[in-house]
Amino acid sequence: MSTNQSPFRGIDTQAVHAGETRPNPYGAIATPIVQTSTYSFENTAALVAHMERKEQGLPLLRGEYARYGSPNARAVEGKLAALEGGDAACVFSSGMAATALTLLTFLGAGDHYIMTDDCYRRTRQFGQEIMPRLDITCTLAPINDVQALEEAIRPNTRLILTETPTNPYLRIVDLEQLATLAHRRGLLAIVDATFGTPCNLRPLPMGMDLVIHSATKYLGGHNDLLGGALVGRADLVAQVRELNHIIGATCDPNSLFLLQRGLKTLGLRMARHNENGQRVAAFLEGHPAVRQVWYPGLASHPDHEIAKRTMSGFGGVVSFELDTDAEGTGRFIDALRIPYIGPSLGGVESIIEQPALMSHFTLSEDERRAIGVRDELVRYALGVEDSADLLDDLAQALEQVPVTRRSAAGR
Ligand code: PLP
Repeated sequence: MSTNQSPFRGIDTQAVHAGETRPNPYGAIATPIVQTSTYSFENTAALVAHMERKEQGLPLLRGEYARYGSPNARAVEGKLAALEGGDAACVFSSGMAATALTLLTFLGAGDHYIMTDDCYRRTRQFGQEIMPRLDITCTLAPINDVQALEEAIRPNTRLILTETPTNPYLRIVDLEQLATLAHRRGLLAIVDATFGTPCNLRPLPMGMDLVIHSATKYLGGHNDLLGGALVGRADLVAQVRELNHIIGATCDPNSLFLLQRGLKTLGLRMARHNENGQRVAAFLEGHPAVRQVWYPGLASHPDHEIAKRTMSGFGGVVSFELDTDAEGTGRFIDALRIPYIGPSLGGVESIIEQPALMSHFTLSEDERRAIGVRDELVRYALGVEDSADLLDDLAQALEQVPVTRRSAAGR
């Protein structure tokens, strides 16, 4: 039952009810955590009936072995398929497991694929360092540059993998344009829409074949689990699921319970993330200690028009550069009282990071500058706190940005 059979139209109703078994054992409203590695059969006839259903591709009525799924996985998969408007979904132990298994399913030795360039560091690393060991190559192409994408396509190109919104600059990909181009050239179109969420962005109705999520972020929403998901056409999802039955990057029932609970409030949380993102971005843009702000909901963002046309909200991540130096940026971050300092995003608690010291720490200063990541860049992943408190907190911390240390060189 990992396919989308939701009769509900509203995304919040789907978030609460889609995928749920009703009634659950014991009349439980919350799906019980089925913490078992192995499922047993009452007798040989029950085993044979199960195997025959499996062979015929019919929905299974019971479990067999936890690497092949669990009632907790089926509930979350049904919910995610409904939320994305996809035929089917499959959950994984992490977002990276979802990405890696998807690529390994549709690519083989001698194949080539294209990634848009501003994508998650580990996704890029997988493509550039791990895939070549399997004789699979990839080319990075700039976002929304149709000519560059066309030119990157080779006779052995099989798919285009993109990501939107991106990190840390929140670039927005025109997915309709990308899907049209991919299909015209016979390629699969896949998007990591972790920063988008099904509340703000619907890639499947825009023509994309598959959507990937790090469920660790907004879908889980509480900074307390690791998970990944793939949603889309049933035949494609089934192929990736089959590979995962061999590999075993399955999400455990406890994490799935948390994910299912988190998903029920996705719409409510996203409304607050969107509101906080917009308010904080506007505040920062008007502050004299801030050199530049990147947020797709601002008219100044390079992809604002695409964002307005294709998204219904712009999320809770705001990136900005302070008009100071590395030390002043650290003082500002340390003066904030609400956010935790750390990686990740999408949870109810706000988290802040200086990419030069966290996600981009291993790059040299020259490499960071080449991709535009300066020491004064800050990524603020806003939680669901009150925007008035977030703004007060920012105002007092920005007072700490030493005017005398502000960079004389500017940009
Ligand atoms: N995709 C994006 C856009 C991410 O930001 C991340 C993690 O930061 C991932 C994928 C990987 O997800 P996970 O940490 O769940 O493996």
